[in-house]
Amino acid sequence: MTLDKEWAIGFLDDFADRVIENKQLLSDLDQAIGDGDHGVNMARGLTELKKAFSEKSPATLKDVFKTTAMTLLSKVGGASGPLYGSAFLNMSKKIDADTLTKEQLPDIFEAGLEGIENRGKSHAGEKTMIDVWEPAINAMRQNEFSSDAIEAALQKTKDMKATKGRASYLGERSIGHLDPGAYSSSLLFQALLKSEGAK
Ligand code: ADP
Ligand code: MG
Repeated sequence: MTLDKEWAIGFLDDFADRVIENKQLLSDLDQAIGDGDHGVNMARGLTELKKAFSEKSPATLKDVFKTTAMTLLSKVGGASGPLYGSAFLNMSKKIDADTLTKEQLPDIFEAGLEGIENRGKSHAGEKTMIDVWEPAINAMRQNEFSSDAIEAALQKTKDMKATKGRASYLGERSIGHLDPGAYSSSLLFQALLKSEGAK
């Protein structure tokens, strides 16, 4: 398996397609515990990313992640734009070669997670995207990365009480709903998982 520039563009393009396909669902989830714009925000940013990739292919693997960071940062908006932007910027900084090994993937994504935590001043258990990122990375490290593992992490956000972001304003009433950012992150990891099999 070669985790090179083409692999990264392919997997992020698939992430974009999944978000665009689930735009309404993501916004509906955000409608329940936020302001209803998560799908619109993410689909806007990822449509721009597909355009950026097709107009000018990034020169290196590192640049694929940097372009993703800059595009999401400038086009997504809301809380999630800067959070995903920080994640991809940190991943880009961590990459120092033209290819990655499968063994390096958890460390790259860990750097992304740290970007989210630093920017969001948040950690696992607060009903955010972190509640998918952290278990997904742990599963990768333990060779247990699977569609079911990603889905299980997402489903666990349902019973959590939000203590960060807009959903935290609802307090106890945030319980019983999936977190929209966790859902969009589950699409990212599902795309990553599929890309591993494809190479
Ligand atoms: P906004 O809340 O500004 O409308 P979005 O709707 O695009 O932004 O994104 C909301 C998602 O962002 C939440 O579902 C949650 O997963 C994530 N989020 C919000 N605040 C934080 C935070 N401090 N740390 C991590 N993730 C967060
Ligand atoms: Mg919102």
